[in-house]
Amino acid sequence: MNTLRISNGRVIDPSQNIDQVSDLWVKGEHIAGMGSQPGLQPTRVIDATGKIVCPGLIDMHVHLREPGREEDETIATGTAAALAGGVTSVACMPNTEPALDSQAAAEFVYLQAERAGNANVFPIGAITKGRDGAELAEIGGLVEGGAVGFTDDGSPVTSAEIMRRALEYCRMFDKPVLVHAEDLELTKGGVMHEGVESMRLGLRGMPAAGEEVMIHRDIELAEVTGGRLHILHVSTAGGVDLIRRGKARGIRVSGEATPHHFTLTDKCLRGFDSNFKMSPPLRTQADIDAIIDGLKDGTLEVIATDHAPHAPEKKMRELDQAPNGIIGLETLLPICILALIEPGHLTWPQLIAKLTINPARVLGIDRGTLKTGADADITIIDPKVEWTIDPEQFQSKSRNCPYAGWKVRGRAHAVILGGEIKFQRN
Ligand SMILES: [Zn+2]
Ligand SMILES: [Zn+2]
Repeated sequence: MNTLRISNGRVIDPSQNIDQVSDLWVKGEHIAGMGSQPGLQPTRVIDATGKIVCPGLIDMHVHLREPGREEDETIATGTAAALAGGVTSVACMPNTEPALDSQAAAEFVYLQAERAGNANVFPIGAITKGRDGAELAEIGGLVEGGAVGFTDDGSPVTSAEIMRRALEYCRMFDKPVLVHAEDLELTKGGVMHEGVESMRLGLRGMPAAGEEVMIHRDIELAEVTGGRLHILHVSTAGGVDLIRRGKARGIRVSGEATPHHFTLTDKCLRGFDSNFKMSPPLRTQADIDAIIDGLKDGTLEVIATDHAPHAPEKKMRELDQAPNGIIGLETLLPICILALIEPGHLTWPQLIAKLTINPARVLGIDRGTLKTGADADITIIDPKVEWTIDPEQFQSKSRNCPYAGWKVRGRAHAVILGGEIKFQRN
């Protein structure tokens, strides 16, 4: 059996409150322990001096596009991008073509992920059949097929009654309902945040209220149903505050921030570049400040990328025609370091918790820990290495990245999945 010794790294495992320089041992597919292990003979050693050794990162909000839009991404290329970004597990969104709304569709994802042999993939099932908002999908069958949560992401669930029933039904399986909070009447025709910048540019805006009224509605529904609610990509100060107050009332709601929503503002649209067009849209500095406060006080316990690949010929269209979203897997770590670690907003253990054990808990998956006996999914981070973001070098099939040319620090050095070294940089 292979025995791997990861020597002398800063081991950070928030699931056990560990932050210390130590060796970490892997035997076969599992974590074998920390410190000196006289009973183990390493067959392989990785020197992690000066590096951070943590549970494999989990990105619970990824669009892999397969089946149906393989020109944008496939399960194989998306999971290769995940590994290059230090991510060992992704949860994939069901807005594929056809939508991931059946047991067979969930099983297909597991099969393709196994074939690709890169990161673990956990499918998120659609809330409604075909994601058309009218009728609940076969939740029980999807759970049977391995779906770990439910969402109609890409779209909101417009009907409050359907959302209420989804929360009730998913509660029976202890699965979270993940919401893309958007009131489509308030955001109709919008291409960016509604505010001073949209007026200046003469572009139609999406008001903050378009997000806030839906977060408010769904928190109320989580309260009456006792269901588990997760708010995807929170982009507004008001949204952060609603989640904070919901938690204070004891409602089962978790919150997620994306790196772009805490680094970029609506001013980025001044160049009419569609790489800054997303839904929810980039907001203002005040919203960024509120999201960072929410990350600091635990209101937002998860950071996820909303990795949304679009082939260049689509994303290059004029702003009002271009699809929403950007890729994010391969810029996750450096952007978090730049925006959260370097200014001192979060400590390393706090950041790693939001990228490991916290999303694992939301999804109820047995990952995100370095406990002895756990599956050996490990990310080794070089926190100091300087590099320049160049989307042409990415593993993702798509290139819609707003950070091209940014000089950043920090990157995945090596990624271990089930005890196997899947990715390593020199
Ligand atoms: Zn969304
Ligand atoms: Zn999404």
